[in-house]
Amino acid sequence: MIRVENLHRHFGGFHAVDGASLEIADGTITGLVGPNGAGKSTLFNVIAGALPPTSGRVVMDGQDITGLAPHELFHRGLLRTFQIAHEFSSMSCRENLMMVPGSQAGESIWNAWFGRGRIAQEEAALLKKADEVLEFLTISHLKDEKAGNLSGGQKKLLELGRTMMVDAKIVFLDEVGAGVNRTLLNTIGDAIRRLNEERGYTFCMIEHDMDFIGRLCDPVIVMAEGKVLAEGTIDEIKADEAVIEAYLGT
Ligand code: ADP
Ligand code: MG
Repeated sequence: MIRVENLHRHFGGFHAVDGASLEIADGTITGLVGPNGAGKSTLFNVIAGALPPTSGRVVMDGQDITGLAPHELFHRGLLRTFQIAHEFSSMSCRENLMMVPGSQAGESIWNAWFGRGRIAQEEAALLKKADEVLEFLTISHLKDEKAGNLSGGQKKLLELGRTMMVDAKIVFLDEVGAGVNRTLLNTIGDAIRRLNEERGYTFCMIEHDMDFIGRLCDPVIVMAEGKVLAEGTIDEIKADEAVIEAYLGT
């Protein structure tokens, strides 16, 4: 589904991504791991259109998507989760989900929605969809809760939920499990697995927790110093000398 070809992203003289090449196959939950500073988040930012690459290409389903803006990628079904913006923290979970069609594309849809009159039918459909998403994520009881009152893990679930409001094909998750308690981590993991199995989502996820990665991801890609160092099952990469060395070296 996604092919990254010899991607570079430099910051001044520093090569954060230094010739990374990898593929994310349709239908997989692909893990992306590596020591701090390996260039994982920078790679995500380039793929998702938040940063232009210095050189190299990103191809989706055979089409060159290098440097496309996030909203163009969004329309192609390539999404990354975003932290819930401060200005949405006083809105309920349900309202946050209903905002999604416009939230990543900018203000224009917000204006269209509230400024130029609502279309009752569309709103009813959005409401139904939002409630289905909350149900799927097992957080229906939080539908009227303000997003700002959620725990860190519940916020992550809501962020994942926002990708379900549109027809996503591939979703990039950057440390969705960071700082989340075990119970919620399991809920998030279940949601990811079910989205993959039942809705056909492909995922690429950066995560530090190797147990979490091991339970969800196949294959796992290891990055170090801006390059892809290894790829394989969790057991293969854990036994890989170069990978062990990369982790010990930091
Ligand atoms: P990872 O997510 O694997 O921990 P990052 O992609 O966040 O790594 O960062 C890779 C390297 O690039 C780090 O050394 C970081 O300091 C550097 N870096 C990331 N973003 C910038 C930036 N905007 N300007 C300068 N250096 C950056
Ligand atoms: Mg990172």
